Amino acid sequence: MNEAAIRSITILGGGTAGWMAAALLARTFDRQAMRITLVESEEIGIIGVGEATVPLFRHFNETLGVDEHAFLRETMGSYKLGIEFCDWGRIGNTHFHGFGDYGEPIAGVAPHHHWLRLSRAGDTASIDDHSAPYALAQRGKFAPADPRQPRYAHAYHFDAVLYARYLRGLAEGWGVTRVEGRVVDVPLDPQTGHIRSLVLADGQVVDGEFFIDCTGFAAELIGKRLDTPYVDWSHWLPCDSAIAVPSARHDAPAPFTRSTALAAGWQWRIPLQHREGNGIVYASAHMADAAAEAALLGSLGGAPLANPRRFRFTAGRREAFWRRNCVALGFASGFLEPLESTGIQLIQNGVGRLIEFFPDRHFDPRLAAEYNRVCQVEWDRIRDFIIAHYCVSQRAEPMWQAARAMVLPDTLRHKLETWQASGKLPLLDGESYMEPSWVAILLGNGFLPQRHDPLAERLPLDMVRAHMDRRREDLVRLGRSAPDHRFYLDRHCRAA
Ligand code: FAD
Repeated sequence: MNEAAIRSITILGGGTAGWMAAALLARTFDRQAMRITLVESEEIGIIGVGEATVPLFRHFNETLGVDEHAFLRETMGSYKLGIEFCDWGRIGNTHFHGFGDYGEPIAGVAPHHHWLRLSRAGDTASIDDHSAPYALAQRGKFAPADPRQPRYAHAYHFDAVLYARYLRGLAEGWGVTRVEGRVVDVPLDPQTGHIRSLVLADGQVVDGEFFIDCTGFAAELIGKRLDTPYVDWSHWLPCDSAIAVPSARHDAPAPFTRSTALAAGWQWRIPLQHREGNGIVYASAHMADAAAEAALLGSLGGAPLANPRRFRFTAGRREAFWRRNCVALGFASGFLEPLESTGIQLIQNGVGRLIEFFPDRHFDPRLAAEYNRVCQVEWDRIRDFIIAHYCVSQRAEPMWQAARAMVLPDTLRHKLETWQASGKLPLLDGESYMEPSWVAILLGNGFLPQRHDPLAERLPLDMVRAHMDRRREDLVRLGRSAPDHRFYLDRHCRAA
């Protein structure tokens, strides 16, 4: 038994970040050895958006021991095979970022190089035709991938408010104590500068040895109390506003998120079992709030079910995510627009990494330094991926022109230049987005490289064509044989 072991963790904030952290920590630490307390204020409330995920999220549920069908039933969720991008690249263009690749390498060369070669020889099949998730999604089909030969992955859409409630139930069942109240003071230890306790408006004092700041945009601990600077990325990602509104279901829930580009931003549509989630993300410098709201309301498939809610944000992240005895998660740690549904993924990885580097009361600074280094790389790489959606577009409106003209982060410039020269992507270990994702966005937006891999030329063109044709035919069969997404949901995941 380590005499210096930390015995209490206090989480401030009960949104998605707070309850995800509480649930995972409660599942990890022995409840006799670790007291976990979560403080939240009903009066302040939660953001209650964030309804689309990436496949990594399934590991989170598996770690918690959550059954997939029960989870989707409780949160009125649906399956997600990827994101359909409409009007990105240019108006009228549609492409799909699926959770899967474009097939096995042929003679050691990734399939997109063969696709480029065939396209240059006049073939007209789109790269999406080689994607297994697209074969299902375009037909409104869903079935989990065969685990013996997984050709794609899936994630979920869910109702964020139901999800926070669901997680709270789990975490409290595993021993997390919830304290209601608004924090008004945060005393620090005069010697170490560490947070000692949280003082609530009603006078209660909640102590702790380690604190997690999940207070959303308020960033009460990491920002306001510990003065951790915010790295502003708005010169790269000018969207600073969002409006969200739920609407009535008007058709069968699609097994994918749709993202439609607009003159100064983009719009999302997330299909759930009981309703649709809709929203617009836009740059207020290029689009007035009233125009954004009108565009959003004018495009709903069904009647709005609530008043639209507005949000303001600044793209960026904290200079450090762990400072002294405090780690920040969720909006308190930074903001990236939800174009690729990365908010929840960053929370999940943030808590997982905290468990990996969890300190004792010696607080060895090397743990925080390594935690911060890995988080910074993760955030910066995801930022690059989001910027890429904008800067390779050919759209003519001023916001898009500015995106093409801007000076890119060096890491992204290097990726795009290498791609342009060779069709290859210099990727580091541990990047959140691997080659098939970059290929989906770059080829999907019409950003073609000048050359493909010369090794692709070793095979006769007809042989490559026959191989690629077989894959497409195989995927057509996959799409035809799978059940309708709605049928699958009704059968397995429908609330009684
Ligand atoms: P919040 O939900 O704001 O929670 C903050 C908590 O802190 C609340 O409980 C509040 O009561 C508490 N609090 C604050 N101050 C105090 C105080 N002084 N005392 C006591 N309690 C306090 N992510 C995805 O992965 N997929 C998506 O599709 C997606 N879509 C999004 C769409 C929009 C428009 C936006 C803005 C974000 C989206 N995100 C998405 C991101 C996702 O919503 C967030 O990562 C997630 O909701 C995290 O929120 P949070 O818990 O940090 O903050």
